[in-house]
Amino acid sequence: MWQRIQTAVALIYPPRCMGCGELTETDFGLCGTCWRETPFIGGTVCESCGVPLPGTADGHRIECDDCMKTTRPWQDGRAALMYQGKARALVLALKHGDRPELARPAARWMAQAGRELFRPDMLIAPVPLHWTRLLKRRYNQSALLAQHLGKEAGLEVCPDLLLRRVRTPALDGKTAAQRAETLENAISTHPKRVNRMQGRDVLLVDDVMTSGATLAACARVCLASGANHIFVLTLARVAKDA
Ligand SMILES: [Zn+2]
Ligand SMILES: [Zn+2]
Repeated sequence: MWQRIQTAVALIYPPRCMGCGELTETDFGLCGTCWRETPFIGGTVCESCGVPLPGTADGHRIECDDCMKTTRPWQDGRAALMYQGKARALVLALKHGDRPELARPAARWMAQAGRELFRPDMLIAPVPLHWTRLLKRRYNQSALLAQHLGKEAGLEVCPDLLLRRVRTPALDGKTAAQRAETLENAISTHPKRVNRMQGRDVLLVDDVMTSGATLAACARVCLASGANHIFVLTLARVAKDA
């Protein structure tokens, strides 16, 4: 019976490529062309942010220039895609295009890219969005990614572990330290969820990592609230020269 329903559904809604809408073999996939044009990250990567690095790993911890210059308050970080070309289009469609269905396959790619980050009893939490933005966009893309990632990795997800109290802090003309402080003041732990992260490793999830300032603010808030180690996993990483 279920098989027949599935077949009927497939006839009415044949699987389409998430990138271009062409018919594909499987649901929630990319067609061959889009697959080739999507910059998946593989090979040697920066341990802190996941950006691809030249050369092969020699067993020592390697980091990109950015992460060597900026001390990250988290242990390790990974990203599934480079924020460019088709990947950029997918991220923007998920963020502004009202296409929440993209979150499931995206989370699958993130689970693959972040497999070395997962720890037993780890708690997954998204980077928070201010409620006024939530109203406009209808959903927090990072929370959606976190939820699907939790299923993929078999880990607990706390969608409202962190809250954003201030809408968008004006960061222009401020020093790096002032920016960090402003961001940190804008983010807080949910008073009713703070007990969940006591002594636990927390995996912070976001759609894009640019400078990492927001993720750093979230990480510091978690550490100050009793979390053990922080890890970060993003769908896409912005390269400096991109
Ligand atoms: Zn396609
Ligand atoms: Zn890095």
